[in-house]
Amino acid sequence: MKIAVIGAGIAGISSANWLKKYGQDVTLYDMNEPGSQASYGNAGTYAKYANIPTNSASYFYLFPYLLLNRNSPLFISLKRLHKTIPWIAKYLSNCRKKRVDHTIEHLTTLLLQMDSGYEDLFKEAEVEKYISRESIMYGWSTKIFFNSAKKDFYKREKTGIKTTILSHDDISDLEPNINNIFYKGALFEGSYFAKSPIKVSEALMRLLLNKGGEFKKEKVVSITMTDNNKVNVKTDIGSTIFDKVVITSGIWSKDITDKIGDKVPLESERGYHLVNPELKNIVDRPISWQERGTYFTPMTDGLRTGGIVEFGALDDKKNDKVLKFLNRTLKMVFPEAGHPQKTWVGFRPSVPDSLPVIGQSSKNPYIYYNFGHQHIGWSLGGISGKLIAQEICANNTDIDLSPYSVERF
Ligand SMILES: Cc1cc2nc3c(=O)[nH]c(=O)nc-3n(C[C@H](O)[C@H](O)[C@H](O)COP(=O)(O)OP(=O)(O)OC[C@H]3O[C@@H](n4cnc5c(N)ncnc54)[C@H](O)[C@@H]3O)c2cc1C
Repeated sequence: MKIAVIGAGIAGISSANWLKKYGQDVTLYDMNEPGSQASYGNAGTYAKYANIPTNSASYFYLFPYLLLNRNSPLFISLKRLHKTIPWIAKYLSNCRKKRVDHTIEHLTTLLLQMDSGYEDLFKEAEVEKYISRESIMYGWSTKIFFNSAKKDFYKREKTGIKTTILSHDDISDLEPNINNIFYKGALFEGSYFAKSPIKVSEALMRLLLNKGGEFKKEKVVSITMTDNNKVNVKTDIGSTIFDKVVITSGIWSKDITDKIGDKVPLESERGYHLVNPELKNIVDRPISWQERGTYFTPMTDGLRTGGIVEFGALDDKKNDKVLKFLNRTLKMVFPEAGHPQKTWVGFRPSVPDSLPVIGQSSKNPYIYYNFGHQHIGWSLGGISGKLIAQEICANNTDIDLSPYSVERF
């Protein structure tokens, strides 16, 4: 089959590689350089343990705190509030225990398979040199937040990753170069991280091209059906006919699903990062300061301080308040930090129940979806690419895809 994949973030690059493995003729489109959007600026963690969504029953009382506290990692653009409120309302309705349990169950299923989505691709693309196998650490600076996180440890262990609780002193032993403001920590043994997400994406792109896949740097503007049930993909440059199409366009997927008629409540959770080259190699592993929603990841170009959630438009400028917040947070843990060399903002593609959308369109059987991976798309890109390729090319998928179907909205 001739298959188009629209969007070359980690979801699209992985889908295209897996479709190639299943013997298909694949063209991957992107209007930007491959791997240059959300997949560029993340914290790099392969977070197999991350089966606890941000949705939580505690949000009902945490929300006012998050909105009003100066050190909260949640930012909301007031001028766009009218657009954000319906999504937030849907998000809160997914914070009821039954809904959260449903999300945990189906994130766990995906995360248990995380490695099977990447292992073969990483080997073939020789990606290991861009990966560190040091485990990811969470740190809590307050007893109250640590105690409220305890209930999640058992649920996290269901992903097969052992959680080791760390005392304040254990943290100093593990990472002697930080200003240890942490009350307690947790180490997720068997988790790992990319030292350069863009290098990983580039290596996977080389693999695709070496195997005969094609990349077109074009913007897809419409997808229509021909009289003989083929799909016409029209771009800013020209048109090509395909048998099937996979939408892996991250936050921009909504532009396409709206036209197809699948109503997906997809919203951007903006995230930021700063880069401090002078702090290169200062820590061995990503450290997440939980109360601040911030990660410090040792990348090849320096320490990357990133995270937070901001609801705002895609074309809003970087918010100074967020940059100041991240700088303040950085300086608390690394007092010697200088002025960041680079700042970045990007868009997590998020739906209110924190489950990705993987499967066939409900309106057009020739169109498939693989987007909406919110906070853990860097971890889930490989497995969701494998699953969508199986859905299209094989009779069976390793995981039942119905919980991730677009029909749930
Ligand atoms: C600050 C931050 C930290 C994060 N940390 C982590 C982490 O540690 N671990 C983790 O697992 N996840 C993390 N994430 C989440 C993860 O980065 C995303 O979920 C993931 O990168 C989404 O990948 P994607 O391929 O769906 O989207 P993207 O990477 O955004 O790719 C979508 C692509 O589609 C292209 N496109 C869109 N529309 C069109 C069109 N019409 N025509 C052609 N091309 C089009 C875009 O140009 C883009 O390249 C983080 C995110 C942020 C913002």
